[in-house]
Amino acid sequence: MSKEFEVVVIGSGPAGYHAAIRAAQLGFKTACIEKWLNKDDKTVYGGTCLNVGCIPSKALLDTSHKYVEAQHDFETHGIKVGKVGIDVPAMIQRKDNVVKQLTGGVAGLFTANKVEGISGTGKVIAKDKVLVTGHDGKQEELLTKYIIIAAGSVPIDIPPAPVDQDTIVDSTGALEFQAVPKRLGVIGAGVIGLELGSVWSRLGAEVVILEALDEFLPMVDRQIAKEASKILTAQGLEIKLGARVTGSKVGKGAKKSVTVEYTDKNGEQKATFDKLIVAVGRKPYTVDLLDPAVGIEQDERGFIKVNDYCETSVPNVYAVGDLVRGPMLAHKGMEEGIMVAERLAEQKAQVNYALVPSVIYTHPEIAWVGKNEEQLKEEGVDYNVGVFPFVASGRALAANDAEGMVKLIADARTDRILGCHIIGPSAADLLQQAAIAMEFSGSAEDLGITMFSHPTLSEALHEAALAANGHAIHIGNRRRKK
Ligand code: FAD
Ligand code: AMP
Repeated sequence: MSKEFEVVVIGSGPAGYHAAIRAAQLGFKTACIEKWLNKDDKTVYGGTCLNVGCIPSKALLDTSHKYVEAQHDFETHGIKVGKVGIDVPAMIQRKDNVVKQLTGGVAGLFTANKVEGISGTGKVIAKDKVLVTGHDGKQEELLTKYIIIAAGSVPIDIPPAPVDQDTIVDSTGALEFQAVPKRLGVIGAGVIGLELGSVWSRLGAEVVILEALDEFLPMVDRQIAKEASKILTAQGLEIKLGARVTGSKVGKGAKKSVTVEYTDKNGEQKATFDKLIVAVGRKPYTVDLLDPAVGIEQDERGFIKVNDYCETSVPNVYAVGDLVRGPMLAHKGMEEGIMVAERLAEQKAQVNYALVPSVIYTHPEIAWVGKNEEQLKEEGVDYNVGVFPFVASGRALAANDAEGMVKLIADARTDRILGCHIIGPSAADLLQQAAIAMEFSGSAEDLGITMFSHPTLSEALHEAALAANGHAIHIGNRRRKK
């Protein structure tokens, strides 16, 4: 027996559930297939982001940050709290509760919007047909006008450090430790490695991050990356650059440890840890997803090939989120999901890929949008730079949270904002103000003439905009030009 729909979405991560809800809002009869089961074997919506990604990692980052504040910061404010301890199982349980609330929320949104959630694994078997295999092995065909593939991504594993989810874990396992490891190794100083390394370092683990590249955060503006390296190292993260992991050996016995072999500029090295997190990136997940006869093309790394509108090589079949080109970020997938649904309804939607914001949720946060100085130099663009340090911000000092800076880059000729790069308190939220200005082709002057509430952290962005044109009030104006 087969069921008929107008839109079938495969995967309910941020890309898939946004696509499904928007399609249903626009009047399409929509189904969303999801294969994820929670610890109680119940179907859960929300994908990597809600279950083992953005949300649980931020829950642990928030808990561990409060722990650090209670230990080191409260006293500065005159607050006496006595001996501070951490109950790791309670922290993990709170994280699980947040995940449960949010995944349940997606199920509720499906019901409210009349999206039919279907439990099982979807496979595209024709341009208008998806085969669903339930967890009991029963199969059902869905006929549909449009297919949106949003099957997401999974962690990359590397042969030198095979994940056993016990001693050697991936990002999912690192969200489940039941005790603070004494010595923790992390392979990869990317976004996920820095965030998860920070969580356990704040709770007392000695953390060593092994990174194959010689440069720290190569995708980040150099000035900001340098500041980040200084701050994170001072917090206790040991970041070894130019250290390529080549092998590992897990010890025997109840209290296993892992010895990692790596090479650096001095030759072959060894280090022993109680736990090792492999955080070397993610890859598109397309296992048993596509019947090759349908002709949906993939690139050499397994990403489904799409154009700017997320159309695949097969008409009426779309792909969105982590399994297509571009940064693997939840919000990028969400926008793609919405764009595809709206284009099915013949609306002129598009995604502005030039303005995808990026964030690393360490403390302070690191956030950026648009071009950095190095990119602009390479493109031969003349620009002005305005930098404002948080140490000159009244609000940041009042909060005892004044590390970092806001850096705004504007075109020297037109004053149009080309990039914003922040390391500092609430950088992710502050950045969004620059992103909005950039979406409307705003200039540094536009931000400069906007009235900002005092005292706010946002004033640092205001001052950086003024500084780009040489008239910041709260710092000396040494206007830097390219
Ligand atoms: P996914 O979220 O991976 O969802 C895909 C869904 O499809 C899954 O639920 C999967 O079960 C389902 N599926 C796959 N195949 C099938 C099939 N054949 N049939 C049915 N269902 C199927 N991004 C941010 O923007 N901000 C962050 O702070 C952030 N933090 C992160 C922290 C960690 C630790 C990790 C691992 C990732 C983080 N990310 C973050 C990345 C973010 O989680 C992903 O970019 C995002 O989840 C991708 O969304 P998606 O919908 O494309 O895929
Ligand atoms: P990201 O893709 O941002 O999650 O970052 C993953 C990081 O892991 C990259 O900076 C890679 O250089 C790094 N990496 C990949 N393989 C290895 C390895 N064998 N040893 C050390 N670092 C690695």
